[in-house]
Amino acid sequence: MADFSLDHFIDGAFHPSLSGRRFDDPEPARGRVLASVARGAADDVDRAVQAAQEAGRGWALTPVAERSRWLSRIADGIEARFEEFAAAEARDTGKPLSLCRAVDIPRAVANFRFFAGAVLHDELGCHPMEGALNYTLRRPVGVFGLISPWNLPIYLLSWKVAPALATGNTVVCKPSEVTPLSAGLLADVVREIGLPPGVFNLVHGFGPEAGQRLVEHPDVPGISFTGGTATGKIVGATASAQFKKLSLELGGKNASIVFADCDLEATIEGVARAGFANQGQICLCGSRVLVERPLLERFTEGLAAWARARVIGDPLDPATTFGSLVSLAHRDKVEGYVALAKEEGGRIVAGGRRPEDPALGEGAFFEPTVVADLPPGCRTATEEIFGPVITVHPFDTEEEAVALANAVRYGLAGSVWTQNLGRAHRVAANVESGMIWVNCWLLRDLRVPFGGMKDSGVGREGGRHSLDFYSELRNVCVKL
Ligand code: NAD
Repeated sequence: MADFSLDHFIDGAFHPSLSGRRFDDPEPARGRVLASVARGAADDVDRAVQAAQEAGRGWALTPVAERSRWLSRIADGIEARFEEFAAAEARDTGKPLSLCRAVDIPRAVANFRFFAGAVLHDELGCHPMEGALNYTLRRPVGVFGLISPWNLPIYLLSWKVAPALATGNTVVCKPSEVTPLSAGLLADVVREIGLPPGVFNLVHGFGPEAGQRLVEHPDVPGISFTGGTATGKIVGATASAQFKKLSLELGGKNASIVFADCDLEATIEGVARAGFANQGQICLCGSRVLVERPLLERFTEGLAAWARARVIGDPLDPATTFGSLVSLAHRDKVEGYVALAKEEGGRIVAGGRRPEDPALGEGAFFEPTVVADLPPGCRTATEEIFGPVITVHPFDTEEEAVALANAVRYGLAGSVWTQNLGRAHRVAANVESGMIWVNCWLLRDLRVPFGGMKDSGVGREGGRHSLDFYSELRNVCVKL
């Protein structure tokens, strides 16, 4: 028997699927069923979109200050159930509870608080010209479809819900079928605080059944999608054919570029964290480590020592520093890439296998893995693995480092580690990626543009970029 039962949240109340169908959501660290979940299909999505549409007019007319207060109440509601959210996220994803407490749940709260403030401090353009005056109005788009992945479930869903509601849209969320639990809790917070029915709706289910209908629904003029590049291509083709507002946050294969003049200890720690945070399951993870040749051996050994020192264990155990992967299927995929790395000539310097500890039972655990000696253009070094596997490659010049960083189809993020300020700025400007960190990683200010180039996506979110994406900006030109 599952510990949780999740239903869709439509028009202010929980409902099972119209078909009555359900699916099991497993707990990856324990290999057992965690939740029984309503399996949404087109008819459930249609119902949710209708509720969102009906609520849309009232919500769009709700004064900005009042919408802002609703967002703050959602943040308060999450905070009041902080431990429940953290435990649910840890059990559903396999990530350590300590990480959920330090990052995932505080960030969900921060997303609501940030956009509650941002929308109040919004400033729009005024362009006087000879004989006329232009000014800009911000208007909601309508019903937004928000589709999110499994790696940072509530962190990323709230990053979409908060700005969409702040700017006067109503939403239909479709969280990942792999990790639906925290989205269900968010719906319960929305119910508890009494947000007007239909403003926030949630349909659980699989991508091709529920997600696809949301993307193709004629009454959903905006889609914000975060997920894999292959899925993004399908979502993009469908949404673009109807000229929807569209944001695509997709995959990555990010370089961490290490120069020999770096602060060695801090860089090993920073690059290892960039590679292995959340078991390597963050789109921003630096999974290709490029090291200036004189430092290669020492640095590789430093990364390997860091990896070996992780405490792999039950996500709920406070001593655990490295949890399980999100599912057995994903662990198999990662394991397949390690086998490929060996075929491609890689040397496993750390990890490379499932841990042998019998206490870990049937969980989806895999050791943090460092691979050396691979050619930088091979599949292991250029395809997104999205797991705890990093490859290390030498370079001899700054130009070569930049060329290697850019020699992948992705362009999401990266990091540069050096004490040479001029070089840091040059490399940051030349690496083809939406975001680049210097001597740090994942230091986030919610105002800055977030998003990728190349196969990593289209558009930017964050701060005013989110406010603009979730709005129709209208120019009014008045002849004087
Ligand atoms: P995924 O593409 O398999 O699924 C993402 C979401 O899309 C899920 O909710 C899924 O149900 C839905 N979906 C699947 N098919 C669909 C369809 N045809 N129409 C509409 N929706 C559909 O991705 P995932 O495995 O959940 O997440 C991992 C991927 O997400 C990685 O590639 C990672 O890099 C990427 N990601 C990117 C960012 C970013 O900000 N760029 C952040 C986190 C994760």
